[in-house]
Amino acid sequence: MLISSQYKDIIIGQGIRSLPGWKMAIYLYVIDGLLIDCGPESMKGSISKFLQEKHIEQVALTHIHEDHSGMAAWLQRQMNVPVYLHEKAIPKAKRKAKYRLYRHITWGERPAFNPQPMPERLVTDKYTFDVIDSPGHMRYHNIFHEKNQGWLFTGDLYIGTKPLGASYDDNMLETIATINKILALDFDMIFCAHSGVVQNGKAMFQKKLDFLLEIQDKVNVLRQQGLDNHEIDKRLNPQKLPVTFFSRGEWSSYHMVNTI
Ligand SMILES: [Zn+2]
Repeated sequence: MLISSQYKDIIIGQGIRSLPGWKMAIYLYVIDGLLIDCGPESMKGSISKFLQEKHIEQVALTHIHEDHSGMAAWLQRQMNVPVYLHEKAIPKAKRKAKYRLYRHITWGERPAFNPQPMPERLVTDKYTFDVIDSPGHMRYHNIFHEKNQGWLFTGDLYIGTKPLGASYDDNMLETIATINKILALDFDMIFCAHSGVVQNGKAMFQKKLDFLLEIQDKVNVLRQQGLDNHEIDKRLNPQKLPVTFFSRGEWSSYHMVNTI
C-alpha cells in the first residue's frame, strides 16, 4: 500500500518494503504533473494504482537504481509520458538490469526502458526545477532544485546524517564535493527518496558533511600511520553491518573507508 499525503502542492506517496529483519521506505513525489522517481517494480500493484490516480505529464529520475526506476517501463507503456534520466545512464536503461538476488527480492526487476536525456531545467506550469549534477551515491545522479520555493529533491544524496556504510558504487569523496557544492544553494526543505520530507535541509546536509569530514580525518590519520583501507575499516568498524552479510559485501563500511 502507498500512503498518500500532501505538502503544499507536492503529493507524496510513501511505501514500505519490509523483509524479515529489514525494512525501508520509498517516497515518490508528484508536483504539478512532474513525477520525481517512480519506485520499484516489487511494489507495482500499489504504485500503479497511486500513479493512475494522479495527473502525470513528465517523469524525472534522480538515478537509475532499481528502487527509483523499476516502474519506468510501465509508465512509458501505460501512461505514455516522457521519462528523463542523466544522459550518461541512458545506455544502461535500455538494457534490463542485472543484479544480485537480494536486490531482486527487495525491489523486483528493472525492465529496459527508453529515457530521454535530462534537460537543464524541468518546467511545469507553476514551477521550474534546476537540474544539478550530483555524483557521490553513484556516478550519474541528479537532484532538482526549485529555488523560488526553497525545495531540493535529493534522490539518494541525503538519506541521513550519519551513514554507517556505503554501496560498491558510492564514492564518498564525490559525495563530499557534491554536498559542498549544494550548500551554496538556497533551499530549506529536502525531499529524500528514502527518508521523506526533511525540514532545515541545509543544516541537515551540513551535519552529514561534518560527519563525513570527521571520518575522513580519522581515516587519513591511520593512512599516515601506514595502515591500508582494509585495516583501517577493521580498526574503525570492528562490527560488520548486517546488510554486509545479506548483500554479500555490496554494502559495507569498507566501501566508505575506501573512497573517502
Ligand atoms: Zn540509489
